Amino acid sequence: MQYISTRGGISPISFSKAVMMGLATDGGLLLPRNIPRIGAETFASWQDLTYTELAFEIMSRFVDDIPSSDLRDLIKRSYSTFTNAEITPLVHHGDLHILELFHGPTLAFKDIALQFLGNLFEYLLEQDNGSLNILGATSGDTGSAAIYGVRGKQRINIFILHPHKRISPVQEKQMTTVTDANVFNIAVEGTFDDGQKIVKDIFSDIEFKERYQLGAVNSINWARILAQVVYYVYSSLHVIKHEGDKAMDFAVPTGNFGDIFAGYIAKLLLPEGTIRRLFLATNTNDILCRFVQNGDYSKAEVQSTSSPSMDIQAASNFERYLYYLLDKDGERTASAMEEFSEKGLLELGNHCDHIQRDFGAIAATEAELADTIANFHKEYNYLLDPHTAIAVFAGLQKQQKNIPMICLATAHPAKFGETVKAATGIEPDIPEAIKNIFDKESRCEIMTADQELIKNYIRTHAS
Ligand SMILES: *Cc1c(COP(=O)(O)O)cnc(C)c1O
Repeated sequence: MQYISTRGGISPISFSKAVMMGLATDGGLLLPRNIPRIGAETFASWQDLTYTELAFEIMSRFVDDIPSSDLRDLIKRSYSTFTNAEITPLVHHGDLHILELFHGPTLAFKDIALQFLGNLFEYLLEQDNGSLNILGATSGDTGSAAIYGVRGKQRINIFILHPHKRISPVQEKQMTTVTDANVFNIAVEGTFDDGQKIVKDIFSDIEFKERYQLGAVNSINWARILAQVVYYVYSSLHVIKHEGDKAMDFAVPTGNFGDIFAGYIAKLLLPEGTIRRLFLATNTNDILCRFVQNGDYSKAEVQSTSSPSMDIQAASNFERYLYYLLDKDGERTASAMEEFSEKGLLELGNHCDHIQRDFGAIAATEAELADTIANFHKEYNYLLDPHTAIAVFAGLQKQQKNIPMICLATAHPAKFGETVKAATGIEPDIPEAIKNIFDKESRCEIMTADQELIKNYIRTHAS
């Protein structure tokens, strides 16, 4: 399988090159040249595979430059850190299926992609005797999942900036109690945006970037999308096994359009009609919802909500879907993205029919979110984290008779215990992974929000 850029400006490259490139060098995002369609017979033959066996079947169709035995081993190791034998179990409440994606080491769905990406980076660096210094800024969840993905790995260091005292105590401890020698936590005195700006500025210093082999782990890496395709297929098979062959819908809490884009790839991959529609669920940061409903993709101010991992106004993976919407035309995609970065808006109203064949959308207010958590608990004695609650809100609103609805549960409720407690009066049980986190040794450098200081810190600690 060869990979191309959504902006059409690079010659096709291999999977391994695409993983190491991250963002395409023409500013676009990398995608497989075509998505194979799995036949009905093959799909049926996957019915009894374990999660990791299924992951191999899917990934091997997109990866042709890693020997099969190595790919199998990478997959196996990546999911051995999960605490549930099924990796992504499906539970059933009322008429909804809830796909639990939070059984990894940091209790959020990002582990599914980042556990794999960490092992993959290590493997590829070994092949060409390279090294990598990962640099990123986090507002909470991504940082810890990325740190857990690469802790203790050879050839990789990770530097993660978080805003000092502006993330939750659990989120802070999840990062700073990882004391492996290759992990560097930096608490920046300032906001998330201050940290984000420093990271961007450092990446734009090309000489520095090359000298220290800087790399990113943000959600634009194709390997992250690929790893996420697996649980859509896994849950489809589960539903078919129990309810017979029928089309199904998904409700997906969305911020950067990464998780739901993996669903779109799964829709293209599986036999036609297996996945009917993907319901995009947002909080009041509803740019993506407006895009689906009337083709209006226009930025607004970011609002802080109780589902902070979805407080996003420019979805970094949106360009991938736009490329398909514009008939895989790289030039048109490039000029549309240019227009968006100049004007902060795109008018795609004349594509509404096409968009709505694939997607539906709904946004939840803070009150709707809290009500959903409270009602679901009352009715089923099951606690939803605030992000999952948005998917469940969408699932309940959009569900149709005889069409199974699978809601993606993206975080464990204990990760956002305060919101859950405010809605239900109940403190979620604390999973083993974060139980003793406040007693553990922690390590973190507190620094002024100054690019030069942080560069110096990297100079001293990079290998
Ligand atoms: C990152 C995140 C999301 C949003 O996923 P995207 O891929 O950015 O759309 C939803 N829920 C949780 C808990 C997350 O951490």
